[in-house]
Formats: sequence, C-alpha cells, structure tokens
Amino acid sequence: MTTLKKFPPIGLLVFSLAMTLTLSVYAADSTEKSTAKAAPIYPELLANALKSDKAYALLESLTTEVGPRMAGTPGDALGVAWAVKAFKALGYDKTYTEAVTYPVWERGVETGAVLSPFPQKLQLTALGGSIGTGKKGVQGDVVEFTDYAELQAAPESAVNGKIAYISNRMTRSRDGSGYGKAVIARSAGASAAAKKGAIALLIRSIGTDSTSRSPHTGIMRYDNTPTRIPAAALSNIDADLLSNMLKRGQPVRIQLRLDARIRKADYTGANVIGEITGALKPDEIVVIGAHLDSWDLGTGALDDGAGVVITMAAGALIKQDAIASKKPLKRTLRVIAFANEEQGLYGGNQYAKTHADTLLSTHIIAAESDFGAGRIYQFNTKLPEDQLHRLAPLHAVFAGLGIAAGNNLARGGPDLTAMAALGVPMAELAQDGTKYFDIHHTAEDTLDKVVPEELKQNVAAYALFARFFTTDW
Ligand SMILES: [Zn+2]
Repeated sequence: MTTLKKFPPIGLLVFSLAMTLTLSVYAADSTEKSTAKAAPIYPELLANALKSDKAYALLESLTTEVGPRMAGTPGDALGVAWAVKAFKALGYDKTYTEAVTYPVWERGVETGAVLSPFPQKLQLTALGGSIGTGKKGVQGDVVEFTDYAELQAAPESAVNGKIAYISNRMTRSRDGSGYGKAVIARSAGASAAAKKGAIALLIRSIGTDSTSRSPHTGIMRYDNTPTRIPAAALSNIDADLLSNMLKRGQPVRIQLRLDARIRKADYTGANVIGEITGALKPDEIVVIGAHLDSWDLGTGALDDGAGVVITMAAGALIKQDAIASKKPLKRTLRVIAFANEEQGLYGGNQYAKTHADTLLSTHIIAAESDFGAGRIYQFNTKLPEDQLHRLAPLHAVFAGLGIAAGNNLARGGPDLTAMAALGVPMAELAQDGTKYFDIHHTAEDTLDKVVPEELKQNVAAYALFARFFTTDW
C-alpha cells in the first residue's frame, strides 16, 4: 500500500458496535441456520494452502528475476511479462492484459549533505513525483516544523528562502493507522512550503524504523501553487541527526541535489489478469488482486509482490481444488495484478473505467492484498447488512486461521477505490502491519522480510474467501 489514501482508523467503538450487530444477526438466525455450521468448508483446499510453497516460490522468482518494478521503467515491462507467464504456468483458464497509460517519473542521482556548522553526508531519497534541483543543486538554511500543520501556520517570513523540514514521526500500530496521520507531510508538504517561499522540502521518512539509514520514498503531489520545489525524505536516523543539529540553535546549511524528472511522453503498461472460469455463472465475477508495480529502491517483496503472489497462488489452489473435488467454481474468479498503484492508482482506476458498464451487474465482491505478508487477523466486508448472516461458514473457517469477524466498513484496498465508490461489494482481509512500515518504500523491502508461515496463512485465507464467494455465496 502506498500513496495518499488513509487507512480507516478502526475505532474501538465502531468496531465493537459492528461486532454487536454482526453477532446479533447470527443470534437471530441461529435456529434456521443451525445445520449450516455442521461441516467446515473446503478442508482439502485449506490443508493444501497451508502447506503450499507456491506463493513463496513465486515471490522468490519475482524478486530475483524481475526485482524493482517502478511504473514506466524496464522493470515494469518485465513484471508484466512475468505475471503473464506465471498465470499461464499456474493453469489459469484465461490470461490477458488491459492497457493502462500513465506519466513516468524518473529518479536519477540524489545526494544531500550538511555544509555547516557540522559538515556530513545525509541519506535521503526524492519523493515520487518531485521535480529535480538542477545539476548545481539547491543550498539553503533549514527551518524545522514538527508537523504539516505547524508549517501551514508559520508566517511566510519564517520560511521564505529556506529549506523547509517537517520532522513528524509516524507511530507504529497493527492496522497502520499511523500512516494516514503522518503522510500528509509527504503528500502535500512541498506545495505548502512553496506557498511561503521555501526553496525545497525535506521530511522525516514516513516509516516506523528507528535503526536504519534507508529513507522511505512515496508519492507526493503538487497542488495549483505556481511554484514547484524539489522534495526529499531523510532516513529516520538522518532526521534525528538534523534535528539534533538544529537544537544547537545555529543556522544549519544544507546542499541538496535531485535529478528527478517527469519524462515527456506517457507510458502504456498493463493490468495483468488471470481467470478461472465459472461453470454456472461465468459472467459473475469475484475479484482478488494486488498491485504489480513497486518503488525502485527495494525489490518490492512486501509492497506489493506479496499481494500478487498470495492472490495468484490462491487462484491456482482453487483451480486444483475444483478439479480434485469435481466441484467446479460457479462464478468466475478474476485475479488482477494492477499497474502503477504507487503513483496514483492508475491500474485500479483504469479497470473501473474499462468495465464501468458491467461493474455493478457482474462484480459480486472484490478484495486486494496490499499490506505486506503479515498474518491476517480480521475479516471485514462491505455487503448489504441483510446478507451478513450468510458469511457464517466463512467466519467459522477463518476463526481456525486466527481471523476474527470484523466490521462491515471494508474499503477493499487502494486499487479498488474506484470500484468501491461505484458500489461494488468489498472485503478486506486485514493483515498485521506492525512491522510493515519499517521497510515500506525503502531499499529494505526484500524477500528476507517475508515469513513463509505467515505467507501461507494469507494464501489459505484468500483461497477460502475466493472459493466461498465464487462457489457458495
Ligand atoms: Zn502497495
């Protein structure tokens, strides 16, 4: 996950209210549905998924043979070719691509250093979408703001001609809710600073690590402020260093060089789609997916290689189960590897546009995996309230995987934003993101951070979810 959208802060109150509603639905229904909770659903599929190495093998392949997949780069094209090949090799009934066009941002060389009073190099990285500084770079004194609001409230005289530095620190939590609160410094800081005459923006990385010098990139946006200034994130360690220097009360002068730029011509990439065709109602679609693009600093193992392989492997296991059990899918399962989520949800938005005419009439439910590879702990939906009692068999099997019944406020995932807005039912298999933002959008987003057992639990949950909605719902 990325960009500018926020995680829904699951307030305890809202959560317990939703739980109460859900439970009371079950209670009211328990007499007539008492036979439904007899046998657990799809025990073979569950057992196979929990012992399958398929997802990990796919992730090892993606990170080794393709690596970084930033939108519009050669890695993007390699990723698309990889996904097409993988869907075919996994035995999907149909594999195809749908074109998605987007601008291309290039990073280039990026360096920073304190010139005075304590000369040192700084570890930083340009924010996605930032303009460059020109070859000579930018030099200026730094003025620190503890958060975006403080920058906004500052008088122009405090900012004009300076490098604005926002030092807010993202807080750690299981649901990643700290991200939504902190990320505005990254997304909107440059234009807010430019309005007051700043010559560049520096931020503390939006990430929870405290012992790494890897800065976190991520998309930023310029608003309609006529002046655009370059923007970069310091690693958390370097942000501490800079704040320590500033505490000493002397002017701190920095040199910054970013060669970032937007390429003149747009690029056309693709959403890659694999389908397992439904036997009875092939035109009814259940969507699971993830985004295929990544940032360029790591290999995109967690963001979002994990989501891609979790959903791909889940589909492959469902197909195997359909054959082995002679119980075909009723509806079609569509697994989508979305293009360019990181720089503006281009793949998801294009999918909603391409399928606009039939989206509501054909799409039964959709879920995206885009929060790393940590264990799933909660299952949320966005379904008509009077349908929730039908989830009982799925809740039962999820309970065995340590997944609690959650709320009915699911937003589905970043690439499903446009579909959700149009009213397509949504599901969220909420992952434990406690450690996710330690490496999110950094060079540390690599395969070694993935715990195979946790990945298997994810595959099992997606397999059961998609099997249930394609066949039993
Ligand atoms: Zn992501």
